[in-house]
Amino acid sequence: MSSTTSGLHHVTAIAGDPERNAKFYVDTLGLRFVKRTVNHDDNKTYHFYFGDQEGTPGTNITFFPWTDHGRQGEFGAGQTQDTAYLIHPQSVEYWVDRLESKGVDVDRSERFGETVLQFDDPDGIGLELVASDSAATADAKPWEESPVPKDHQLRGFHSVTLAVAEYGPTESILTEVLGFELEAEADGRRRYVVGSGPASTVDLVQIDAGRGQMGVGTVHHVAFEATDVEEQEHWRDALSSHGQNVTEVIDRKYFHSIYSREPGGVLFEIATTDPGFTADEEVDELGSRLTLPEWLEDERTQIEAQLPEFDPTTVGAGEN
Ligand code: ZN
Repeated sequence: MSSTTSGLHHVTAIAGDPERNAKFYVDTLGLRFVKRTVNHDDNKTYHFYFGDQEGTPGTNITFFPWTDHGRQGEFGAGQTQDTAYLIHPQSVEYWVDRLESKGVDVDRSERFGETVLQFDDPDGIGLELVASDSAATADAKPWEESPVPKDHQLRGFHSVTLAVAEYGPTESILTEVLGFELEAEADGRRRYVVGSGPASTVDLVQIDAGRGQMGVGTVHHVAFEATDVEEQEHWRDALSSHGQNVTEVIDRKYFHSIYSREPGGVLFEIATTDPGFTADEEVDELGSRLTLPEWLEDERTQIEAQLPEFDPTTVGAGEN
């Protein structure tokens, strides 16, 4: 049994307006709208997934767009500060130009020898593009219809940066349970890496602030990948043995999930690789309709009537 996770599976955040959210991730960042479904725990709310051509684990950022109950979140300790995607080093100028031409303020810096472009999405969610040679070996599959040319497309996740009041409690889950190792520390940041694959980095930064408050503009949870249900059961036992509360295994249709809030305050999920997003749509059709798991299909008419207004044809229709 593996004692290390294979890295990040997805990141889920709370957005405001669904159209603004989808347009940013598809039209500006060039990700594919791989799945349009509802939050299984609150089916009046959409659940959008944006990723690579196939929705490969490690490429998907997902959103619950909160509209009528759209409480603004408040950034603080126990939250994800930035979600970072990998790009090729030769794509840095392309992305600075692309983002600035769309009115996005970009902050450029160097971190652990790599160029980092930091910016916020329209709801204030922190994003980064990290230029690294490892982009060449990432699993992400280019999306043929992306407004971003293949060579410059996002190559899946590089990392997440979690803001915590102190390193220790979160570090213990990362290193003693999930198999991460401390790789580097500089400028008030600790970097942890697991294995040698893509999407395998978590950074911790200590911030002098109270606990954040979940709401629009904040990340809801970070999901790590388990290759199968047996490995997931191992993580469930390992988290419990470490004194963590862990949920039962929940069927999320596209993966099976367990959830545990790490002691620094960040909600962690462990999600299985399979069955993936082709469980109910072919690769060519991904994201083309509202999909519901079979246990909600009987309620489709009512669910569709309650969802906020959103016209998917407005996404991906803009100029490059
Ligand atoms: Zn999730």
